[in-house]
Amino acid sequence: MNALADFVNTLRGRIRGEVRTDPMSRLLYSTDASNYQMTPLAVVIPHSTADVVDAMEASAYYGLPVLPRGAGTSLAGQAVNACVVIDTSKHLDAVLEVNAEERWARIQPGLIMDLFNREVAPLGVTYGPDPASGNRATMGGIIANNATGSHSIVYGMTVDHVLEVTAVLSDGSTATFGPTDERTWATKAKGNTLEAKIYRGGGASLTSTPT
Ligand SMILES: Cc1cc2nc3c(=O)[nH]c(=O)nc-3n(C[C@H](O)[C@H](O)[C@H](O)COP(=O)(O)OP(=O)(O)OC[C@H]3O[C@@H](n4cnc5c(N)ncnc54)[C@H](O)[C@@H]3O)c2cc1C
Repeated sequence: MNALADFVNTLRGRIRGEVRTDPMSRLLYSTDASNYQMTPLAVVIPHSTADVVDAMEASAYYGLPVLPRGAGTSLAGQAVNACVVIDTSKHLDAVLEVNAEERWARIQPGLIMDLFNREVAPLGVTYGPDPASGNRATMGGIIANNATGSHSIVYGMTVDHVLEVTAVLSDGSTATFGPTDERTWATKAKGNTLEAKIYRGGGASLTSTPT
């Protein structure tokens, strides 16, 4: 069985987004802003969160490693690997909700930081940490790298501003992480889901393999 070919065929039949394996696309995604170059196995450009779920599920099923990617401005090779790259920057870039009074927003991960700030500026608010790459860098990459900028003494780092993250886990299940009291933690740690295993501290061991 060719796991990659089966993965590509399965996913193309399932998602609205793109599944690219052509040499040009793989070359384009083989570099980021670091010195490293690693050619991905395939590039998925999801159209929706449902596409991400399908891509994660299929990757787990066929035993293929995955790497989410934003703008690829990482300096230490975080955005390249010999894996399935999932690029959230093309379609998953919306500001979903802004509550300027309470100073929070719900956003999608592919949103570019400067565009986010431009959209909320008329409301008199801004996203504080300011990586110098903010005219390219996406909020997903900013959160994953815990980015900050020259005003870090004033605004702190990204981790100081993330209230909650809804994540698609490596088996395709979805979980929301945020401040959790002991009782909620204990409840979430029960059961056989990957989320529960993460709360028990053993999440990495649950990965499905192809049959
Ligand atoms: C000129 C230049 C200046 C820079 N200045 C700064 C600076 O001032 N401060 C600073 O902190 N950094 C800086 N950086 C580094 C980099 O720009 C930032 O760390 C930025 O946050 C990366 O964002 P990105 O969208 O390019 O992420 P990528 O490089 O695409 O990805 C970064 C990491 O995030 C993960 N990721 C991306 N999207 C998702 C997602 N949807 N879900 C889960 N994980 C995801 C990737 O797997 C990877 O591990 C600079 C880089 C350059 C080239």
